[in-house]
Amino acid sequence: MTNADSDSGSRGGSLPSTGDPAPDAARAALERTCRVCGCTDRKACPGGCEWVSPAVDVCSSCWKPDPNALAAELRQFMRDQGDVIVQLPIAELLTLIGAIQLACRHPLFSGPARQRVEQGIRQMVRQLPEYLVHFRAIAAQGWNPRHDSEHGPTP
Ligand SMILES: [Zn+2]
Ligand SMILES: [Zn+2]
Repeated sequence: MTNADSDSGSRGGSLPSTGDPAPDAARAALERTCRVCGCTDRKACPGGCEWVSPAVDVCSSCWKPDPNALAAELRQFMRDQGDVIVQLPIAELLTLIGAIQLACRHPLFSGPARQRVEQGIRQMVRQLPEYLVHFRAIAAQGWNPRHDSEHGPTP
């Protein structure tokens, strides 16, 4: 025991420090690591992944969806907070609406969820001031591919 103490004590002071104060091993110990697959911030899963929550060290590649747990989370949120209030610049709203309209054309996006999304967007646009004539027209035309513009970004 006294030998070990004197060993560890003699290691540090005698040589001047010459490099990175945090060696790789120490940095790796601090790095966040997925507890399922072991990926890290510096070495993500093939194809990319992200942390699902600051509260849980599991990456999006490994997360197993649980509809009941989701429903419980949403009930808790509605009890605690009520609605989500989103605030964004008006131009970004138009971009967001366009992206949602594009998603709504996907053949696998159908049924009540698809209808709810369209109703929600239409309701949002109706609440905007009436002088936003062009904005409202573009948002209305976005539901129909016939009105797609040829003036998108060119490579
Ligand atoms: Zn993982
Ligand atoms: Zn991962």
